[in-house]
Amino acid sequence: MKRVKLPQPISGGLLLSYKCTAECRHCMYACSPKWKGDWITQKDLEEALSQLGGAIRPSPWGDQKVSLNYGLHFTGGEPFLNFELLLKAVEIADELKIPSTFVETNCYWCSNDEVTRERLHLLRQTGLKGVLISVNPFYAEYVPFERTNRCIRISKEVFGENVMVYQLEYYHRFKQLGIKQRISLEDYLELTRREDLTEKAELFLMGRAGYQLKEFYPPYPAPIFFNEPCRPAFLRNWHNHFDNYGNVLPGYCGGISLGHWQDLDRLIREGIDLEEHPLLGFLVAEDVQGLYHFAKDFGYQESGEGYLSKCHLCLHLRKYLLSKKDFEELNPREFYVHVE
Ligand code: SF4
Ligand code: SF4
Repeated sequence: MKRVKLPQPISGGLLLSYKCTAECRHCMYACSPKWKGDWITQKDLEEALSQLGGAIRPSPWGDQKVSLNYGLHFTGGEPFLNFELLLKAVEIADELKIPSTFVETNCYWCSNDEVTRERLHLLRQTGLKGVLISVNPFYAEYVPFERTNRCIRISKEVFGENVMVYQLEYYHRFKQLGIKQRISLEDYLELTRREDLTEKAELFLMGRAGYQLKEFYPPYPAPIFFNEPCRPAFLRNWHNHFDNYGNVLPGYCGGISLGHWQDLDRLIREGIDLEEHPLLGFLVAEDVQGLYHFAKDFGYQESGEGYLSKCHLCLHLRKYLLSKKDFEELNPREFYVHVE
């Protein structure tokens, strides 16, 4: 296969920046306060939203409702770190009539009711349809749970049904345990059971998770993952991401660029040149075995510690390859600096 056409995206997330107040152990995009914080410019914001806007599909319940895999969301990093920019993004999206828009937040900014209510109201008045609030023990290491709780309560006042709590299982667990402040993962696991982490809710072992959660998940040798498909599929039309550097990221795969969203029409019509981007050739075919042998040709040695998942192996291989050659499809570069 020499070229592959990008499916027309029908939903996804726009990363305003990778900068975040937290440095969660499971972060797919390796976000943290250490990133340069190159926020998307207003010009790029206008261009990206115009490129994406026309094809974004509304929630099955209508364009005023929100659903995780429909519409467009504003994310990061932590988008509330640059509230003016977030408001601008919402305003442009509203002018373009992009349906089912929502913002994803870790709630760090919800220090009191007034600020929380004021910001959420402003977003609602500017055209935002809903909010996605992140809850799990990794966020709780950085964000006092009382702020998360406040954000959920006031978001429901402002956005009604259009509030998604990801993940609800953890929200109930935190309430039940009476947690109010930050809590370390180790202390949380003392209060609960170790299985709370591994069984309670969905967790993709990708991005930083492969490096930071080694003590909680069993490692396997590389060949175990050779014939495993990517889950969800590598190339798909829903829930892709578009970042502040112009990268089109497949699904949740941090550090992989399918091209520039300025070229989106061409990538959809003519496809991606896989000869110019050899790593994408393996990734599109979901062939981690091929990628492994390709990396071996560059001198890669299988890790004696094993890998937690196919995505961990994939990232380990990409990180190594990037240390050997400047592959354009491995972007943004800073992801690889902050991922461990
Ligand atoms: S998971 Fe979210 S809150 Fe945590 S570091 Fe990543 S972007 Fe920030
Ligand atoms: S194996 Fe690689 S390409 Fe496939 S989903 Fe995981 S990170 Fe993405």
